[in-house]
Amino acid sequence: MQQQAVKHSVILRLAVPVPLRRLFDYLPPEGVDSAAVAPGQRFWVPFGGRKLVAVLVDVVSESPLAELKPALEQIDREPLFDRRSRDFLNWAAGYYQAPAGEIYAAALPAALRKGKPADHWAEQWLELTTDGKGLPETALARAPKQQSLLQLLLSRGRQSRTQLKALGHSSTIVRALAERGLVEWSAGPTVPPPLPPAEPTPPPELNEEQRQVLAAVATDRFSATLLEGTTGSGKTEVYLRLMAQVLAGGRQALLLVPEIGLTPQTLRRIAARFPGHSIAALHSGLAEGERAQAWLSAAAGQADIVIGTRSAILTPLPRLGAVIVDEEHDGSFKQQDGVRYSARDLAVVLGRNAGVPVLLGSATPSLESLHNALSGRYQHLRLRQRAGNARPPQIHVVPTLGQPLQEGFAPQVLRHIGETLARGEQALVFINRRGFAPALACDDCGWLADCPYCSSKLTMHRRQRQLRCHHCDYRRPLLDSCPQCHSRSLSALGGGTERSEDFLTHTFRDFPVIRVDRDTTASKQALDRLLAPARDGKPCLLLGTQMLAKGHHLPRVTLVVIQDADGGLFSADFRAAERTGQLLEQVAGRAGRGDLAGRVLVQSRYPEHPLLQLLLEKGYGAYARQLLRDRAVAQLPPLRAMALVRAECEEPRWAEEFLQQARAQMQALAPPSPELQYLGPVPALLERKSGRFRFYVQITAEKRGQLQPLLARFCQWAEGYKNRRLRWAVDMDAQEL
Ligand code: ADP
Ligand code: ZN
Ligand code: ZN
Repeated sequence: MQQQAVKHSVILRLAVPVPLRRLFDYLPPEGVDSAAVAPGQRFWVPFGGRKLVAVLVDVVSESPLAELKPALEQIDREPLFDRRSRDFLNWAAGYYQAPAGEIYAAALPAALRKGKPADHWAEQWLELTTDGKGLPETALARAPKQQSLLQLLLSRGRQSRTQLKALGHSSTIVRALAERGLVEWSAGPTVPPPLPPAEPTPPPELNEEQRQVLAAVATDRFSATLLEGTTGSGKTEVYLRLMAQVLAGGRQALLLVPEIGLTPQTLRRIAARFPGHSIAALHSGLAEGERAQAWLSAAAGQADIVIGTRSAILTPLPRLGAVIVDEEHDGSFKQQDGVRYSARDLAVVLGRNAGVPVLLGSATPSLESLHNALSGRYQHLRLRQRAGNARPPQIHVVPTLGQPLQEGFAPQVLRHIGETLARGEQALVFINRRGFAPALACDDCGWLADCPYCSSKLTMHRRQRQLRCHHCDYRRPLLDSCPQCHSRSLSALGGGTERSEDFLTHTFRDFPVIRVDRDTTASKQALDRLLAPARDGKPCLLLGTQMLAKGHHLPRVTLVVIQDADGGLFSADFRAAERTGQLLEQVAGRAGRGDLAGRVLVQSRYPEHPLLQLLLEKGYGAYARQLLRDRAVAQLPPLRAMALVRAECEEPRWAEEFLQQARAQMQALAPPSPELQYLGPVPALLERKSGRFRFYVQITAEKRGQLQPLLARFCQWAEGYKNRRLRWAVDMDAQEL
């Protein structure tokens, strides 16, 4: 069928948030002046009977469609996304085979995604008039409050209403100056919500290694640098100095942190270093309006420093001067549903596009970044010494097989904890499982409490008297008797943080035991509050999951106990050994961060395991390099590019059939070869989740570029596949199996 293309002076090409990998053409809304239309603005558009918020990507004059509908309404006068941001997001949509509309939606904060007008958060700004600027210094000497406000405006330029309020300049004073014609208000860009107040702190003198790192990162051009530095070696100090340089050049600094790294403690440290600068924190703990405000201040180039978790990488930053990724190995930088992007990988792309440096820092770099550094693609810089007076901790393995363990702890470990507390110091116990016990079993018939929706056991939470699934959050009341044989003899198998808390509280009665896991820290502030006694320096026992492994600087912790080091060494997931090594090293790094020496005790059933030995004797650096050699032999990432095509369905057969056809589609385009290999469909590691069976096809290739055409072909085919009960996804550079 021959269709007649539409020509029109202005056709809007929009990214509409629907799961289709194409842009959609519309005519401008009725009555909208086409001169007022610019890419980066939002529009309301009609789509399949619904009304959606779309972003204008391009203005064209010809459409392949036979008939175009007008958009309903123009939302923004000023574009929200500048040119560079649009190019970046469009590129990401291509790389991850994601619908452009979904990428733009992911980039926007919820309030703007729902179509709220941006000028809802516009700020009022106070500026000097020409008369005000020309006033002699001493003209207002008899009105000191007016004088001080005038001084502020002279030295720092215009000030927002929010800032003036925070600095204590009353509206009466402002009015007095306005009546004299010295100042005036104007509407302007949003400012970020203020951070918790912090005492300004002067920076420490840099050590030689830190100076070398800073000298090697030029701020006037693109470079990608891996900063490998043990915990406490002063990486954050380097970030702060780099940020200071960027601010001095009049540019914005972007700092990406892991989900649980954006603590009030981190924010305080940054706020204390940069008083007078506007700092926007973007994270899930913000109310919708605050988040929109922070985002708009970043996108308007108003915020000097933008700190955020994963999605902050998608925020437009018109004055971008550097991108810093802290704890770059952290799994939370990879989005695991929707658009499955890696914020860490995108950081490097963004830096290249903007011509600014990208600094990836970690004590335990991901194998991806380490590979890039060792192969010369990234600059590789190291901090080998701990900053200040801190010394590296001593690490000892405690074999547990055949030992008389008490609730999972060896006698000598308990003795060490007791001695540490008695000396007035703090101990930290790391347990990789929350809840009371990971399983509940019947002693008489062997029944196990399974999740009805997932292929997993229910975890017992004794405090709440519940059984919970940690994969789908299914909950049910704790049972008194076995549903199968009615025996009342049920046992909690294995241990979790709750169980250890009970035991340790009982054993070390004279000292507070602080449990830190997702159940005790519903909010970011809760974690900060919980840790306050530990920061005060009194003797206490900290007990928790990986939430304790990151970021917290607790100088009085001198003993770290890792209750079980074995979990990741025998997993079916090829990345498990990498993650375990990172976790153990990070936890161990909590010991001896202050002036006191630290000790780490690692319990293991297999103290002779060669990887564990390597990690404990030579450290993560040597361990990671060995893992890289193993990955090379096995032809796995990062030595190969990898993508997964995923499908899930309540009916497992449908998902498998779909993936078989998907694989055939891709193989028709590129048959298997030594450079390009297919695997699957195979069940995901967690085979069933929330009632759906999950499978994937894995494709590995020598070059990334070989994967894209295959994935594009797959998406094209899959978008036309008719089975509404089936969900599918493309996962480029997948992290989870
Ligand atoms: P990392 O981010 O590598 O864990 P930090 O930058 O947080 O390390 O530094 C650890 C501690 O050492 C912090 O208390 C920090 O203030 C301090 N520190 C960092 N650099 C120096 C320095 N050059 N001199 C003295 N103390 C420093
Ligand atoms: Zn039973
Ligand atoms: Zn479940």
